[in-house]
Amino acid sequence: MNHHLARVKANLDSRSSERRTADDLKIPDETITQTLSWSAFSFIKEFNAWKNGESDDSLLNEDGSRGLSWRHELPYDVFESASVDAARALENFASSRNGKRDGPTVGFPHFQSKGKVTPTFRLRNRLSPAHSSSSQSIRFCDPSHLRLPKLGPVKICGPTRKVRRMMEAGRFHVYSATLKQRAGRWTVSLNGVASEFHQAVRSRSTRHLVPVGVDRGIASLCVAADANGASLETFEGVKILRESQRKLKAACRALARTTPGSHGRQQARIRLAKIHRKIANKRSHLVHQVSNSLVTQYQILVIEDLNVSGMMKNRRLSLAVSDAAMGELSRQITYKAKWHGVEVRVVDRYFPSSKTCSGCGVVKSELNLSIRSYCCLTCGLTIDRDLNAAINLARWKEVADVPTVKNFACFSSFET
Ligand SMILES: [Zn+2]
Repeated sequence: MNHHLARVKANLDSRSSERRTADDLKIPDETITQTLSWSAFSFIKEFNAWKNGESDDSLLNEDGSRGLSWRHELPYDVFESASVDAARALENFASSRNGKRDGPTVGFPHFQSKGKVTPTFRLRNRLSPAHSSSSQSIRFCDPSHLRLPKLGPVKICGPTRKVRRMMEAGRFHVYSATLKQRAGRWTVSLNGVASEFHQAVRSRSTRHLVPVGVDRGIASLCVAADANGASLETFEGVKILRESQRKLKAACRALARTTPGSHGRQQARIRLAKIHRKIANKRSHLVHQVSNSLVTQYQILVIEDLNVSGMMKNRRLSLAVSDAAMGELSRQITYKAKWHGVEVRVVDRYFPSSKTCSGCGVVKSELNLSIRSYCCLTCGLTIDRDLNAAINLARWKEVADVPTVKNFACFSSFET
């Protein structure tokens, strides 16, 4: 990656300085250095020539040979995926500058420095889907060993039964395996295409058919309630981050007391990283459980489009919001819903789900975030704040027609 970035940067710099001179001397633009191609294909081709000692700027080794001396020790894919990533990062930068890309502005890619970036690489599965599962270069040799190209069998911790069965039955074709190191442990994720779930799973007869609103609260992870006003489920919040704050604080303090560059600092750093990893794992496990439970039980889910990155900027809220993993939950609900044939309705973020009374439909002008229960002054209803919001979300289509809502300042039309 750095190799390509350095080349592109040098090329851009020399072009801009040459253009300045060319403008001064009135020389046509064609005579200055040509732009490099930023495509992944040209990057791979150039890097292969460089590492094999075939290009002019290849390294000269001590024994007189040219090229990267350790190139045969690594799988070829490692170099290739780095080239592809560099090309993608540059493309994101270019399209962001042209205004062709949505979202936040993307800057020129950073150089990757050792110890600061997560060590990761991709390995490709080399055979076509027509081949049997036993001849794929990425495959399970037994329940706890995954065979990877060049690396051979690698021991896997954790359950593999579902993915193994799908691969053996030809229902999941692996394109690539991504290996990533986090806090001293390697994780592998398999990317590929999988066939749809069986029709019986997708349209289960026991599913709750009334629209279900899911309100992601602060006190609990989320509350599910249906349009009839029945409270269905309350998933307890991920309080792990807060519970682990004490441990985290102690580890941070221990790290701060160590001398930079010492062995003790290294140890303290690892200890802190392990606590962070544990918190992340617990949170991810819980969010997966919740999203799975929602998409398997209900047929229509109504979720709110929350401005999570905006809420994270609020320092008082950020801990609670990141703890509740709000953005991740809606992302998981959206993709898992497709697997199970569940309809997901996303409600506009300006829909006053918390401020509306689920009893009579009156919208309050103000509702402080610290008030945990909703008390209606018109009909006298007292209800849990998150439950009230969940019911309103479930009734979303109906509520949208109530005239009192229409004068809401930011109310706009949205898709169903
Ligand atoms: Zn009311």
